[in-house]
Amino acid sequence: MPVADYTTYCRMLDRARAGQFAYPAVNVTSLTTANAVLRGLAESRSDGIIQVSTGGGAFASGTAVKDMALGAISIAEHVHRAAERYPIHVALHTDHCQADKLDAFVIPLVEETERRRAAGRPNLFNGHMFDGSALPLKDNLDIAARLRERFSASDLVLEVEVGVVGGEEDGVHASAAAKLYTTPEDTLAVAQRLNAIPGPPYLLAATFGNVHGVYKPGHVTLKPSILKDCQQAVVKAFGPAARFSFVFHGGSGSDLRDIREALDYGVVKMNVDTDMQYAFTRAVAAHCFTHYDGVLRVDGEIGDKKAYDPRAYLARAEQAMADRVKRAATELRSAGMALG
Ligand SMILES: [Zn+2]
Repeated sequence: MPVADYTTYCRMLDRARAGQFAYPAVNVTSLTTANAVLRGLAESRSDGIIQVSTGGGAFASGTAVKDMALGAISIAEHVHRAAERYPIHVALHTDHCQADKLDAFVIPLVEETERRRAAGRPNLFNGHMFDGSALPLKDNLDIAARLRERFSASDLVLEVEVGVVGGEEDGVHASAAAKLYTTPEDTLAVAQRLNAIPGPPYLLAATFGNVHGVYKPGHVTLKPSILKDCQQAVVKAFGPAARFSFVFHGGSGSDLRDIREALDYGVVKMNVDTDMQYAFTRAVAAHCFTHYDGVLRVDGEIGDKKAYDPRAYLARAEQAMADRVKRAATELRSAGMALG
């Protein structure tokens, strides 16, 4: 299927809200990882979301170029072409972008979509995240409101965050004093500000103790009930139509029970990065350890071209990551739910 257009993406989000399931939103950094997501989604008959972070975009542009927008455009162009060969719908998103990176990442990507629309072509991305969670709430929402106005003109979905997801992603660490639990008051301020601007649905990453990365059991206390409290508060203040569409960040390594509870409270998108990275690298490591005298030229030997051809281990890595995507789709109840 072609990458979801605006109407299709809205249908996807509506279905997830109504059916209490969520889409895996998987970070990719290369053609191989993007293909892994498409394959995993197709094999589980799940629609889903492919996303690119600032660091992923910089990597994809080439380690000598390091242009985060350029790499994100390259990946998105590939997905637009390749997705047509798979029987499911994907949407394209960008991940965390702090205020100081907007001009180097989100804005050039929005401009690219604006150029494409002017030429009668589909949007490049379906949505972009602005992460102003490190700013005072008012400053966060001032920027979010400006972005929402611009996004609305091009049918782009805005994702915002209040509260801070712990841990580390792309080298950005949340401080120990970070606010790991969003309050209903914070989310009411979001609704008040963003609902006043007509436009596409927006997505809200509210934090309930989630962290980026994977930690040993006991390190993290998730409180999905915070999401329920936020929904009750917003419905009381603004009516049932104002219910939030939540994003679960730092989904890797979470307990299935916590994931399912979060789905019940309106999570429609769960970001999974770390578990995908591990699945991919695990397969590469297995190949290299099993064929160490093939991938290496040991003791004057010549190695084995079939073992050190990068396709040998990248194909295994693609399959392993696709399998991890399938597990995510099952956990998020999106498996078997693909739009016809
Ligand atoms: Zn995140």
